[in-house]
Amino acid sequence: MADDLSVVNGARVSFARHKTDMDDSDAGLIRFLMRERHGTPFEHNAFRFHIRAPIFVAREWFRHRVGSFNEFSMRYAKATDDFYVPEPEDVRTQVGKPGAYSFEPVPDEVAETTREELRRVYETAFATYEQLVELGVARELARAVLPVGAYTEFYWTVNARALMNFLSLRNAEAAQREIRRYAEACERFFAQRMPVTFQAFVAAGRVSP
Ligand SMILES: Cc1cc2nc3c(=O)[nH]c(=O)nc-3n(C[C@H](O)[C@H](O)[C@H](O)COP(=O)(O)OP(=O)(O)OC[C@H]3O[C@@H](n4cnc5c(N)ncnc54)[C@H](O)[C@@H]3O)c2cc1C
Repeated sequence: MADDLSVVNGARVSFARHKTDMDDSDAGLIRFLMRERHGTPFEHNAFRFHIRAPIFVAREWFRHRVGSFNEFSMRYAKATDDFYVPEPEDVRTQVGKPGAYSFEPVPDEVAETTREELRRVYETAFATYEQLVELGVARELARAVLPVGAYTEFYWTVNARALMNFLSLRNAEAAQREIRRYAEACERFFAQRMPVTFQAFVAAGRVSP
């Protein structure tokens, strides 16, 4: 539900003009709006993403207030036994001070132990969850035993301006690796649907207008 023309027409309505095809002057206009941070013309479009992610990623995502969310409910539906186990190369240690951490690989045996321990805890947690549900405990309460590595599912509908803010913050060095991978995927859709806007965003230093 998004294209570059939505930006052009959002801006050109100031002069009572409407375009049906993009030309070079429209690309120039988009670059100008981005550079000068005229942000509102970038709001007349929408991307709807259907995301499956661990709860700890979703929590970071939901902090982005400009956009709409609907999430899978563990009050109404039974939780699935789908949990995040990082690939060995994604198990890392943090080095340095808060705000300036770098993340380094760990020895193979530490990576393997981490994966095994996560699986063990997930299995125990899910077995307890199922036991409580079988005993008749409400799902909304039984879910309290599930860890933040459990997967959740949600829709996220967002306009290009708020999406660029998300990409600027979450497809960035400082972002947690797991949400960054999702942000990279979102960025590919953005580049596909709004190529001129995407290039202008990159040229302007990846700052949302
Ligand atoms: C690397 C990193 C580390 C983080 N660490 C923490 C942390 O330790 N603790 C923590 O609580 N959060 C943390 N956050 C979350 C962060 O503080 C933001 O809540 C989150 O990134 C959403 O950004 P946003 O407010 O720009 O986005 P959105 O909520 O989507 O807002 C988009 C833009 O709208 C405007 N806006 C929205 N709401 C308001 C408002 N109420 N008043 C004025 N302007 C508004 C702002 O210009 C904002 O940039 C972290 C984020 C990152 C990327």
